[in-house]
Amino acid sequence: MPQTPAALPIFDGHNDVLLRLIKKGVADVESHFLDGDGEGHLDLPRMQAGGFGGGLFAVFVPSPSTDPDADPADRKAKRREAMSGESYDLPLPAPLSLGEAQPTALAMAGILFKIERASGGRVKVCRTAAEIRDCLAKGVLATVLHFEGAEAIDPEFRSLELLYQAGLRSIGPVWSRPTAFGHGVPFRFPGSPDTGDGLTDLGKDLVRHCNRLRMMIDLSHLNEKGFWDVAELSDAPLVASHSNAHALCATTRNLTDDQLKAIRDSKGLAGVNFATSFLRADGQMTADTGLDVMLRHMDHLIEHLGEDGVALGSDFDGATIPSEIKDAAGLPNLVTAMRAHGYGETLMRKLCWENWVGVLERTWGG
Ligand SMILES: [Zn+2]
Repeated sequence: MPQTPAALPIFDGHNDVLLRLIKKGVADVESHFLDGDGEGHLDLPRMQAGGFGGGLFAVFVPSPSTDPDADPADRKAKRREAMSGESYDLPLPAPLSLGEAQPTALAMAGILFKIERASGGRVKVCRTAAEIRDCLAKGVLATVLHFEGAEAIDPEFRSLELLYQAGLRSIGPVWSRPTAFGHGVPFRFPGSPDTGDGLTDLGKDLVRHCNRLRMMIDLSHLNEKGFWDVAELSDAPLVASHSNAHALCATTRNLTDDQLKAIRDSKGLAGVNFATSFLRADGQMTADTGLDVMLRHMDHLIEHLGEDGVALGSDFDGATIPSEIKDAAGLPNLVTAMRAHGYGETLMRKLCWENWVGVLERTWGG
């Protein structure tokens, strides 16, 4: 049964729980999510405890390890070590072919639908803004299917059509790694997001198809040229689901003030990423990071995007986040910090959920 809705629900722009779940390699992974396995940042009990009312759920296909014996935990540790210097520049993995990407992408999307089916009405895959509003009001977890990187989409866009029919409502042309559709930013600090070529011709076709279907195009992970390619072509609001302010943390993954202006002009939105390496002025990946750093990004984004253009994009289950939040159950600590910082209740509602639902409604249609 749905639980009592939170007084101030959080609707969040990005999480990687489907990746966390598929990596467990077990058949009944839905029950791990629904009953709560206590691992990573997200499962249903902790989301309900923290007021996490819904969000975009990413399908991200990981690159195969070049070392087949490597333990994923070792790879994560290596990555953390690589990102712990005063500056870093990580090489991007090789592109994935359609044939490599599609089975995993379909399996991850399938996990979300299996969660919905097994949830007994506690979780819904939403296709309209009205459905999200209804879920938030009733305490049903409102999920939106999102693809982070378009590797699973064929060049004739037949799979895009099929996935739209299934419920896909948001797609990023790239997760950093190059695709047939464009180029993303390598993880570099300090660094400008202007790192090379933007969208390919096929990537421009993808934008046109998304506009036709009224599917959201996610700009996070695109480089600056790709961002401007989308800005020029797309008739939808510009949305970066999980990116912060480059003026405060000079990583390639963050948005320059010029990019923020374009987002504002399009009535779009940026979701504040909880990843400490995209928050801290020193770019470090460490949970020992105060929430004041997040509030500084929120202030900067509000100044440049206006109160209607800022929301949350946690990167739960995909990043090292501040220990004061720790996991979804710790979201009330962030809410408390935002209120203590002086944000009034109207602004709190906008930041926590209304802005996301508004931009999705403007993108998808009412
Ligand atoms: Zn991401």
